[in-house]
Amino acid sequence: MPDSSQEAHKRWLRIARELATLDDVVEQLLSRHARTDDGLCACCTRPGRGTPMLPWPCSLYSLARTAQVLRDSRHGPGGPA
Ligand SMILES: [Zn+2]
Repeated sequence: MPDSSQEAHKRWLRIARELATLDDVVEQLLSRHARTDDGLCACCTRPGRGTPMLPWPCSLYSLARTAQVLRDSRHGPGGPA
């Protein structure tokens, strides 16, 4: 029986790897989904109201951050210039 949480994690990493090739998108997500003073995500807002509602880090921020780490690890020492 497949472990569904493991499957979800694999899917998550696949998306993050895909995202890691899109530098602009990663930067944009990280800067927009910033933490507010209340500890909420500034970009994940209530529809129609624009008030933050999700605790930070939201899933989009986490995904972009994972993509950034994956990308940076590829550009690490010893990698191609
Ligand atoms: Zn967010």
